[in-house]
Amino acid sequence: MFDTLSDRLTSVLQNLRGKGKLSDADIDATAREIRIALLEADVALPVVRAFIAKVKERAKGAEVSEALNPAQQVIKIVNEELVAILGGETRRLNLAKNPPTVLMLAGLQGAGKTTLAGKLALWLKKQGHAPLLVACDLQRPNAVNQLQVVGERAGVPTFAPEPGNGVGDPVDVARRGIDEARRSQHDIVIVDTAGRLGVDEELMRQAADIRDAVQPDETLFVVDAMIGQDAVTTAEAFRDGVGFTGVVLTKLDGDARGGAALSVREVTGQPILFASNGEKLEDFDLFHPDRMASRILGMGDMLTLIEQAEQAFDQDKAEQAAQKLGSGELTLEDFLEQMLAVRKMGPIGNLLGMLPGAGQMKDQLAQVDDKSLDRLQAIIRGMTPAERADPKIINASRRQRIAKGSGVAVREVNDLVNRFYDAKKMMQQMAGRFGFGGAGNNRK
Ligand code: GDP
Repeated sequence: MFDTLSDRLTSVLQNLRGKGKLSDADIDATAREIRIALLEADVALPVVRAFIAKVKERAKGAEVSEALNPAQQVIKIVNEELVAILGGETRRLNLAKNPPTVLMLAGLQGAGKTTLAGKLALWLKKQGHAPLLVACDLQRPNAVNQLQVVGERAGVPTFAPEPGNGVGDPVDVARRGIDEARRSQHDIVIVDTAGRLGVDEELMRQAADIRDAVQPDETLFVVDAMIGQDAVTTAEAFRDGVGFTGVVLTKLDGDARGGAALSVREVTGQPILFASNGEKLEDFDLFHPDRMASRILGMGDMLTLIEQAEQAFDQDKAEQAAQKLGSGELTLEDFLEQMLAVRKMGPIGNLLGMLPGAGQMKDQLAQVDDKSLDRLQAIIRGMTPAERADPKIINASRRQRIAKGSGVAVREVNDLVNRFYDAKKMMQQMAGRFGFGGAGNNRK
């Protein structure tokens, strides 16, 4: 799921790289591309509209971060808005103060309710709860048996009407199921209800009757993420007919376009609580909007870098360095300081590897390791302030003194001085390419 959307978004955002500054026209063009990508992924139109409006407003607005270049900034905004439409914070189950907590499952036939009952039961059991499954789907032949089977696989008992009594009354079974839970000390009851192939009145009425009888702490609307736009209409029908407090997305392992997942929260106003992504009982977890967003953006590393850059960023020092860079006055002292600041962000190889375009610099990166940085630091520390400020004065005898003082060969001191000049050149190029440091950093 989300592969195409992810590819599209990545390439749209990649086009921004290398721009020191984004014009309103750049932002409009980017917004248009994102809009197309979302519509192609089957995201509901009102959701797309609201999303694009928000991204545009923020990208054009006064939201300027000193730590990020414009491309990174847009990536950050798109990511945050994705997290927001997916629900923001991870929403956990509401458990009743007086057990048993009653969880009722509703949704169309084939949505994955029965499977979910087993998954949820296993997940809760692993957390120390004692769930009881209650079989209220008396419509579909074999549904009760199917629930018993998943219950056994999860190691959780199932309360079901005795066979041979004809088709029972699901409301009555639900009530008796709750009584049974109280009697046998189950702290959570999972009520499986009947589904239909399509939304119909009788289905809604039955679900509403069960709801009134058991007063669930949570009603979970289970929806197959593969059904695209239909997910949204079905969700609206269940919201109006039964009401629900949370959504469970199933079949996220499928290869559908994923728009349902992105729309359902925004359209129904109810949070996505769980994600189901496979046929095994273990293929299940809480739904984390932030993780899902970075999966959709397909830029996990880039987002980590953005976060680290914001944390490690020292505005005053970077401004000074930027000024010096611009005027070509960078000294070895600044070089050392920048190196230390960058190292605060983690091992240098990882860090450089996360930079966009780093793929092409692989050979150079292979030579950068933390040990050689330690040596560089030692050499710079072995210099006098005058030498650091103006490396040109470092003649042969000074080189020998520095080498001796810092325990390295003279060749290494020569290397460092040469690399400093190279780095100065490279940083000037990078300033243009990534918007680091240079005047292109801010849109003011
Ligand atoms: P119900 O009618 O709503 O109770 O749906 P079921 O639980 O019987 O599921 C319908 C089908 O979808 C079954 O074949 C399940 O194995 C399958 N299924 C359920 N959840 C998932 C999932 O997350 N991923 C995949 N690939 N299949 C699922």
